[in-house]
Amino acid sequence: MRRVAVFGATGSVGESTLDLLARRDDIEVVALTGGRNVKRLAEQAKAHNAALAVTAFDDCYQPLKDALAGTGIDVAAGAHAVVEAAHRPADWVMSAIVGAAGLAPGFAALSQGRTLALANKESLVTAGPLLLAEARSHGATILPVDSEHSAVFQALVGEDIAQVETVTLTASGGGLRDWPLEKLAYATPEEAGKHPNWDMGQRITIDSASMFNKAMEVIEAHEFFGLAPDQVKVLIHPQSLVHALVAFNDGAVMGHLGAPDMRHPIGYALNWPQRGALPIKRLDLATAGRLDFAAPDLQRYPALALAWQVMETGGASGCVFNAAKEIALDHFIARDIGFLDMASVVEATLSAFAARADIAATPRTLDEVLAIDTMARELAGEAAARRPRA
Ligand code: NAD
Ligand code: MG
Repeated sequence: MRRVAVFGATGSVGESTLDLLARRDDIEVVALTGGRNVKRLAEQAKAHNAALAVTAFDDCYQPLKDALAGTGIDVAAGAHAVVEAAHRPADWVMSAIVGAAGLAPGFAALSQGRTLALANKESLVTAGPLLLAEARSHGATILPVDSEHSAVFQALVGEDIAQVETVTLTASGGGLRDWPLEKLAYATPEEAGKHPNWDMGQRITIDSASMFNKAMEVIEAHEFFGLAPDQVKVLIHPQSLVHALVAFNDGAVMGHLGAPDMRHPIGYALNWPQRGALPIKRLDLATAGRLDFAAPDLQRYPALALAWQVMETGGASGCVFNAAKEIALDHFIARDIGFLDMASVVEATLSAFAARADIAATPRTLDEVLAIDTMARELAGEAAARRPRA
């Protein structure tokens, strides 16, 4: 039996993970964690006969306890309990909490030498070098689950990264891709929260429309594969059938194609280092008919350009970028700022942070990362308050 823990089980990636786990008979679920969706977490814990169910929020403890009364499933609550769950023995751990909250549990799993399937891209953006060092020093393995990064990872099997010239991540362009430029500033959270191809959580869907998601993924690729900033490229590809392209120094380009379904990269990480059959719609290029590509317009996607600024600056700027992006997104969802203001807020936060000489330039510990994260959130809140109301 393989012992599996899923962090962020009630989310979009978490549900897809459990869908795959339910199809196998060699899985023992040692822990599931969720947020405020206690009802769903309890249903999942029962359906998968989990040993432990954890809600990240203290005030959700009693409702979860009540929902699981008489089942024999252990119940815990709070951020510390989520991290403790990552210390339980497991063979495969899914990191699918959204946001910086996913950082500490991922670290904890790596400290135990686990195989960590990493969907939480914020971990690599905020603390890439620390995360990779933690994995190395404990003999742990990180497997990318973000679809583009899984695609690159697969294209690199049997290859030497030193022979790679460029890595191209594709982007659908998001729900507002075809909007007239002058209308973009007035887009609502509902409009930005609809995705043409992928079925994902609300926050990542809005990040997809603004391309903050792709900016995060560019930094993620830079960190995970050790690529120089100018080796990472982005192409708009509206059909979302090509997930990434890896170009080698002999002129060959390896592309990864497939239906847009997160169960593919999750399943690849679950079956790794082998492949195994997955319930994914098969790609039919004759029906698809065409694959389109275009360079991204940085006026439409100002967030994207910030990724290269972050990679060039290095140090704590990935952490600042992620924290500021989360705050800007909160303010956009709360209708305090406009859609394009999100990039301005993040840019202003990066500048405000750079001007602060009192903060460690490069975080050396998880605690330093979290302190910078807190500081960046304050600076971003101030930057957002300076924007005129949307
Ligand atoms: P989601 O919002 O659907 O789910 C997030 C999960 O995290 C839920 O289980 C929620 O309860 C939990 N959570 C929220 N706040 C928490 C907190 N403070 N502490 C602990 N748990 C908390 O998100 P998602 O779309 O499944 O994305 C999860 C991660 O995977 C994100 O980092 C995202 O960028 C990444 N990702 C998602 C997709 C996708 O298709 N959805 C694709 C690639 C990468
Ligand atoms: Mg992705």
